[in-house]
Parts: sequence; C-alpha cells; structure tokens
Amino acid sequence: MKVSFPYMGTSHIAFSMLLRNLGHEPVVVKPTQKTLTLGTQYSPEFACLPFKILLGTYLEAIEKGAELILTSGGIGPCRAGYYGVLHQKIIDDLGLNAKIIVFEPPRNLSIFDLLNKINYVIKLNKIKWLDFIHYFKLGWQKLKALDEIENYVHKIRPYETNKGDTTQAFEEAQKILEKAQTKEEIEEALQAAKNVLDNVPQDKSRQPLKIGIIGEIYVVLEPFANHHVETVLGELGVEVHRSISLTGYTSNSFIKEGEQDVIKAAHPYLNQLIGGHGINSIGETVLYARHGYDGVVQLAPFACIPEIVAKGILPKVQKDLGIPVLTLFLDEQTGKAGIETRLEAFVDLLKQKRYRANVQDKLVAVNL
Ligand code: SF4
Repeated sequence: MKVSFPYMGTSHIAFSMLLRNLGHEPVVVKPTQKTLTLGTQYSPEFACLPFKILLGTYLEAIEKGAELILTSGGIGPCRAGYYGVLHQKIIDDLGLNAKIIVFEPPRNLSIFDLLNKINYVIKLNKIKWLDFIHYFKLGWQKLKALDEIENYVHKIRPYETNKGDTTQAFEEAQKILEKAQTKEEIEEALQAAKNVLDNVPQDKSRQPLKIGIIGEIYVVLEPFANHHVETVLGELGVEVHRSISLTGYTSNSFIKEGEQDVIKAAHPYLNQLIGGHGINSIGETVLYARHGYDGVVQLAPFACIPEIVAKGILPKVQKDLGIPVLTLFLDEQTGKAGIETRLEAFVDLLKQKRYRANVQDKLVAVNL
C-alpha cells in the first residue's frame, strides 16, 4: 500500500525505511511553495501554518497514489489535537480516497488505542509484532542518528571557511545514512557522516555567537516552514542550538511526562501547560540564559496561541536574565528576504552587546 506521513526535516529518511520494512511503499512529499499554496487554498483561513503545509503535502501525496496517511496527535489545549479530524474531513469533502490514522500519545487516550492502530498498519502486510518491534527500533536508531548529525552540522557551520560547504556535506551525510539498513550499518554510517562533516575546511580561531532556537515544533523542525533560519544564522557565523528534536519530542510526549527541567525553569513565569510548546519556549529561554547563550530566536506560526502567550511573557524573562529574544511569526505571506534582514540585524545587535561586555570586562580589569 502507498503510505504517506508529515514531512519534517530529515525524519522522512527514517520513516521511509520503517514503512518499507513493513512492506509499504512510502510516498514522500517535500513541501514547496506549490504545496503551501495548495494547502492554503483548502484550509480554513484561521488555520495555522503547519496545518496548511501538512494539508498541502497530504493532497500532493494522494495525487501520487497515497491511500493511507500516518500522523501523530497533539497534546494539551491547542488545535493540534484536531488536525487529523479536520484534515480527514477536507480530504473527504474533496471526494478523495485516503484514510488518515492519528497515533495519539498514550497519555491522551488509552494505550490500547495506540496498539490497535499499530496493529491495523502492520497486519495489512501480515507483519508479526516481534518483527515490527525490531523494525521500529531500527527506525528509531536512524532517527536518533539523523538528529545527532543535524546537531553536528550546527556546530560546524559557523566555522566553515567557504560558505555553503557544510550544507553540501550535510546532503552527503544524509545520503550515507539513508543507505544504512541494519543496526551495525547505521552505526558505521553515523561515523562516516561525521567524517564527511569533519572534512569541511574550518577556521577554529573564530568565536561564534550562540543562539538558541525555540518555538512550535513544526516550524522549528521544517526548514521550508522557517525559511532555513538555522542555515542563515550558521552562515552569518552563529552556532545554533535547537531546543527541539523529533526523538526528544516523541520520547517526552509518548513515553515520559514532559521535560521536567524545562517545565521547572519556566515555573516562575508560567506554571501551567498552555498547549503546543508554549511552556517549553519560556523554560528553554531561561535555560539558554543560564547556559550563557547570546540570544534566542522564537519561531511561531502566525495565530499560534501557545506561542503568542509565550511571546507575551518573554519580555519579562529577557529583562530579568538579560537575554535578547527575537520573535519571528511565520505564515504563507512571510518572505525569505524579510526573515534574513531581521536575522542579520539581530546578529549585529548581539555582536555589539558582546563587544560592549568585553570592553567593560577589560576596563574593570584595568581598574583592579
Ligand atoms: S501549537 Fe500553534 S501552530 Fe501548532 S497546532 Fe497549536 S496553535 Fe497551531
């Protein structure tokens, strides 16, 4: 059966492998401007950007023959929990023949709901549960390797001597990981991918600014949705740290009870879950400030309630802890040039702040 799923960063490499192992044919749709236009055309006007992009990818996947779409549900009081139902309704109203299965975190519903849905997907090709567990572990290992490589990329890019070399090496690293099929092959591929990145010519005498990326998961993880913010910052000489990864998010929402250290850090400013990643955006900003980061960029879909609430609180965090925060709201009207200009201005501001702090330190040392 042709099966599709939400496209988010590099995760399609691991999901495709899992689906192939389960005897399905993955249908991968990388979002483009055409996807967004299509999704926007059939979405309610008030829907947030991730909803529109995902709808666009589903419609394109159905056009390519996908009959089944697998996705995850949302947690907490926000619209994400209704995505699956509404997407299915739009697909049905358009007279298209595709079924969406939403895997809800067991914390939302019972574990039996999750197991029943997995059972449906694996029994389509008579896969045994033991085999499924084995393939799932392999997929998870690959997903973790992809997350690790992406973090590695963020550390290398600000030192590259030729702009674009790291991005090119990252493409190669993904291809290496894509080919790996067994546990041992994935381990070897991870090392080989790191070697490719290590070979990027670098100037280690630089002292890059450090910026943390916070915000709503989809726009943080999918470069098309955020106009490649991490690459733009990296090429401006900034070491980026992303607060969210897909493996981290999945284990926190499906297995553990959220990230306790982040929630604890947010507590003086916000002490209840507000849906999406609202509370994380506050807690992570506090943690970035404590770890000496120069600034934070908040990525928020336009009209995303959890991130709007977080944005209202962040000026207080900024004032108390002295960490500058730039919020970028994203929707279908947002242009790449506008985002780049704002990031350049933010980086200039952070450079001046660091310069002033260095001068101040030297003056204090002289007076001593
Ligand atoms: S977190 Fe924000 S963008 Fe995501 S579904 Fe909720 S309201 Fe929409």
